[in-house]
Amino acid sequence: MVEPVVEMPRVGQGIDVHPLEPGRPCWLAGVLWPTDDGCSGHSDGDVAAHAICDALLSAAGLGDLGTVFGTDRPEWAGASGARLLGEVHRLLTEGGWVIGNVTVQVVGNRPRLGPRRPEAEQALSAALGGATVSVAATTTDGLGLTGRGEGRAALATALIARA
Ligand code: MG
Repeated sequence: MVEPVVEMPRVGQGIDVHPLEPGRPCWLAGVLWPTDDGCSGHSDGDVAAHAICDALLSAAGLGDLGTVFGTDRPEWAGASGARLLGEVHRLLTEGGWVIGNVTVQVVGNRPRLGPRRPEAEQALSAALGGATVSVAATTTDGLGLTGRGEGRAALATALIARA
């Protein structure tokens, strides 16, 4: 008996870490946090958006942020997290993929994401054509680079399937 061929959904994961840069606007999870310092980096330093991009690209077998938006493509320098997410969504759509859902967890002392979680989820979802996005946050109890307030990190998981 021949087993039917079933195309399974695919998962991808992404991680991003950036140093904090005092005085830089804080873009995190697609939202501006006016009372916090942002992260330095090639773009706006939104670790949550970047981790999601990597998770989606990995799930689709399209490489990673460096592959798609590397420093050899100066037109993406300073690009917002939302713009990067939009381009990743376009690439996935072009490749025949649909996004099942995306989760991202931010690791850091500040900002406190809880009060603005719905806004962040809505912003990230909108950048991904309405995909389901969940945002969570945690600290490391004072340990490590995020605990010492030197940087901010994010881990993302994405599930995609053939359209
Ligand atoms: Mg990054």
